Amino acid sequence: MHYIEKYKKIVISFKIIMPFMKEYDFDLFTIGAGSGGVRAARMSASFGARVAIAENRELGGTCVNVGCVPKKLFVYASHFSEDFRDAEGFGWNVDSASFNWHTLLENKNREIKRLNDIYARLLDDAGVMLINGRATIVDPHTVAVGDKTYSCERILVATGGWPSFPDIPGKQHAISSNEAFHLETLPERIVIVGGGYIAVEFAGIFNGLGVATTLLYRGPLFLRGFDDEIRTFLAEEIRKKGIELLFNTNIEHIEKSDKSIVAHFTSGEQRDTDLIMYATGRKPKTADIGLEKVAVELNGTGAICVNEDYQSSVPSIYAIGDVTDRVNLTPVAITEGIALAKTLYANQPTSVDYADIPTCVFSQPNIGTVGLTEQQARDQYDEIDIYKSSFTPMKHSLTDSKEKTFMKIIVHKKTDRVIGVHMIGPDAGEIIQGIAIALKAGASKADFDATIGIHPTAAEEFVTMREPV
Ligand code: FAD
Ligand code: NDP
Repeated sequence: MHYIEKYKKIVISFKIIMPFMKEYDFDLFTIGAGSGGVRAARMSASFGARVAIAENRELGGTCVNVGCVPKKLFVYASHFSEDFRDAEGFGWNVDSASFNWHTLLENKNREIKRLNDIYARLLDDAGVMLINGRATIVDPHTVAVGDKTYSCERILVATGGWPSFPDIPGKQHAISSNEAFHLETLPERIVIVGGGYIAVEFAGIFNGLGVATTLLYRGPLFLRGFDDEIRTFLAEEIRKKGIELLFNTNIEHIEKSDKSIVAHFTSGEQRDTDLIMYATGRKPKTADIGLEKVAVELNGTGAICVNEDYQSSVPSIYAIGDVTDRVNLTPVAITEGIALAKTLYANQPTSVDYADIPTCVFSQPNIGTVGLTEQQARDQYDEIDIYKSSFTPMKHSLTDSKEKTFMKIIVHKKTDRVIGVHMIGPDAGEIIQGIAIALKAGASKADFDATIGIHPTAAEEFVTMREPV
């Protein structure tokens, strides 16, 4: 066919189709301006999509406002008490050191406000329309915010999660991590319930700030899912620092009196305290946002079920981050946002590799970990070699601290490939980030051994462990 005839045919078919094609207000409407939503929105806009994002709280979501960022600032703040004690061994006299909770809160709030503003600027620069308010899904191509509705080709749900409490009498007297970031006064005593990341991190924070801290966990040992030796080692380190660990314990009900809050344990014992904080997990934020109206499939925990392209059971509705309750970490939500934007708007189908995601528990000392635990490695492979090292960090040769560092490498014997690396010690997160690159690149134990150490560091131990245990 001559090209002019071909062109005429295309124009005619376009004219026939056009009246039936709907022009949407946006190509993508993102609900939630947290770690995942903001990244997906910005990147999609940079690829030419017309994007809107709705947020009903502060920009940046959990991580910036009540998660990673303020938590890490609190960890720094709380560690100074130990640093001041350690300083004496190096000749410093810091007798007059004192702590002001309100100064910390004010400075933390100022920093978070700065980050909120940066997020607003980044969205604006990318050409994303920010809509303040709570968004709900009206139909597969319509979102409502307040009294306005917006049509869109696709909807991205990135609404994150929210602290979840067991339903016990008196739970209204307890707080979650959300409130812990805004306490008017620092309590003298606290009971923290839970044995996951948040419970362990906040136990270190409150203890370091001088609060008599009890951590209460329902099972025999906290941090289920981490390497068993790491869990045991951290429990010992935490106890040395004066935190009371009560395992196989739970609260049956809570009472509030004039002077204190009373935790009644399932064992029948009771405990007077000033504050009870629950860190018993987080639930995906999927209630009352219209998902039921369009029949988006949820799993048993209320998370949105998605395929490998983050598409829900309704083809125009996508979900990323904590609302899908898979790996609930900021860098994962961000990576999913990038993959989604590339797939949908850059013609670059991209999937996320969930293997060997490194992670850090900002306990004191830190846990840094990547790859398989010893138990997982034993379940998956016939033969493995384990390399371990435990030592007093050099810094503490001049202090009274009893803190110890622990490192562990797990190797698949047949291929010599390193399949798990775990550490407890100062800056374990910083160290494991680099090791994670080696694991991702498929490094063997021989590669570790061939690497020259940086002396004197704790990290050099990872390249000098020669004999398996
Ligand atoms: P979020 O960041 O939670 O964002 C969701 C956004 O959606 C929120 O801003 C919310 O207000 C908004 N929203 C919800 N519903 C609506 C609606 N209907 N309309 C409009 N807006 C809506 N991860 C790490 O990697 N490292 C850490 O050190 C770390 N520390 C943490 C410490 C704490 C105390 C907590 C609670 C979490 C921590 N996390 C950490 C986890 C991390 O914060 C989350 O994995 C991450 O924020 C998930 O991003 P997201 O985009 O899925 O959701
Ligand atoms: P986690 O899921 O990590 O831990 C929840 C803890 O609460 C577990 O120990 C669990 O016990 C316990 N628990 C659950 N239900 C009950 C109950 N009814 N009664 C008593 N105990 C209960 O949740 P977190 O709240 O600590 O943190 C949420 C998520 O946020 C983390 O999983 C992580 O993905 C992310 N996060 C990441 C951080 C980081 O990267 N450093 C820091 C903070 C949070 P059991 O194990 O027995 O089920």
